[in-house]
Amino acid sequence: MSTLLDERRGAPHPATLSPLRAAAVTGWGGGRRCHLARWTPRDADELRDGLSAVTERFPSGAIARGAGRSYGDAAQRSGGLVVDTTALKGIRLDGATGVASVGSGVTIAELLTAAIQAGWIVPVVPGTQHVTVGGAIAGDIHGKNHGTLGTFGAHVRSLTLLSADGELQTLAPGAAAGLFEATLGGMGLTGVIAAAELQLRRVAGPMLSVDTDRAQTLDEILSLLDSPGGEHRVAWLDLLCGAEPRGVVTRAAHTDAPRRSAADVTTPARAAVPARWPGGLLRTPVVRAFNELRFRRSPRHERGRIEAFGAHMFPLDVLDCWPRLYGAPGFYQYQLAVPRDQDRVLRDVHECLTRFGVPSFLAVLKDFGPAAPAPLSFPIAGWTLALDLPRRAARIDAALQVCDRIVADAGGRVYLSKDARLGGELTAAMYPRLPEWRNARDRSDPDGIWRSDLALRTGLVEDRPQ
Ligand SMILES: Cc1cc2nc3c(=O)[nH]c(=O)nc-3n(C[C@H](O)[C@H](O)[C@H](O)COP(=O)(O)OP(=O)(O)OC[C@H]3O[C@@H](n4cnc5c(N)ncnc54)[C@H](O)[C@@H]3O)c2cc1C
Repeated sequence: MSTLLDERRGAPHPATLSPLRAAAVTGWGGGRRCHLARWTPRDADELRDGLSAVTERFPSGAIARGAGRSYGDAAQRSGGLVVDTTALKGIRLDGATGVASVGSGVTIAELLTAAIQAGWIVPVVPGTQHVTVGGAIAGDIHGKNHGTLGTFGAHVRSLTLLSADGELQTLAPGAAAGLFEATLGGMGLTGVIAAAELQLRRVAGPMLSVDTDRAQTLDEILSLLDSPGGEHRVAWLDLLCGAEPRGVVTRAAHTDAPRRSAADVTTPARAAVPARWPGGLLRTPVVRAFNELRFRRSPRHERGRIEAFGAHMFPLDVLDCWPRLYGAPGFYQYQLAVPRDQDRVLRDVHECLTRFGVPSFLAVLKDFGPAAPAPLSFPIAGWTLALDLPRRAARIDAALQVCDRIVADAGGRVYLSKDARLGGELTAAMYPRLPEWRNARDRSDPDGIWRSDLALRTGLVEDRPQ
């Protein structure tokens, strides 16, 4: 049977490679710009054929970059090369089995739009529809339904990887040397994923039945997230209302309620934040007032409200360029996971940030099911808390160093897809299967072509003399 890549191999290969361009990029959380070269191969063959010519010009290393929705420095290499995968498109869906062969630059929104026509859905989606399939695999991302369906990687039947030896190889779970598992959550450090075969999920349609509860305490929130109900579970927390967090918990289940519009499975942007406020717009009193309004306007206890999948899953996507609300300094997203019996960490981290005067402008809590087999995959059975914190807060770095220690001592970890500041010692403590991952990675990339600023900062990959 021909693969997606075979099908897309029609046109003769161009004699010249697509151009390298100088670029300055940041992670989604903003901050200092990183200067590098960006190469955008137009298809998998160009990616394979151009690799050696391109990488030999960049001894400081190369890394894949998808939609750039990771918050920190995972998809950049200062002074090096990013391989921009956004032109690696193509979707072939078997409507009977729900098996989709996709280019790694296909976004979740594009795949959802194609899949829902045939009665299928992407089983695990993050909080934005704009990430690429390659980024979803490299982060082994999770959705609001981790307890039911695990991570994105659990639905990858195979992937085609351009490894450091310049070969495109197709890997399935259990492949030699653990390279498939090392690539899930491997942050692009095993090579460039060119394409993947995914198992989609049959659903009656793009509508959800949503139960909502308002909760006045953290214990109440945890117990609601633990109680039976819809599979997509999430709590929005108000951490600016005083010492005790309050919040709104939603639990959503798929339903066969009729569609309301053709775009129900995705969500269109309704406005964009202009670039004209370098100091940013978000201030604690403004966010506190917004939180008060949001809390009061949420139903105390509501069952079975019908909502569109896209609107429910991707609420932030209605506002394009929303990180500009934080101004030029940007923000950190601090996402931690802790084992189920360590929920006191959630309180301890909130107390620590309050003590250091760091406001949490957005806080989201979810529950996690069992960990995935991939050695660098983030989720562990328990709780995960994601906090958006303005970088301009004076003592933010000191506060987060204390938080890192609290999390690590509890057997927890910080999410690499969101991280912009963790050091090597704590990364090794938080990811105890790092040696196993390094072993697989070093075998596939002995010369260390694939490296990112994140990989060097966290010590995932050792630095080497230039
Ligand atoms: C608003 C918002 C909400 C989010 N919600 C969630 C959530 O609920 N759950 C969750 O898990 N994550 C979430 N994320 C994080 C996001 O899912 C991950 O950071 C994801 O990896 C981003 O994909 P990307 O295409 O933007 O990749 P990039 O940010 O461009 O790259 C991320 C990493 O993937 C690697 N990579 C990208 N493409 C490839 C490829 N083709 N081959 C090899 N490596 C590649 C890069 O090298 C880098 O290490 C959210 C992000 C945002 C902005």
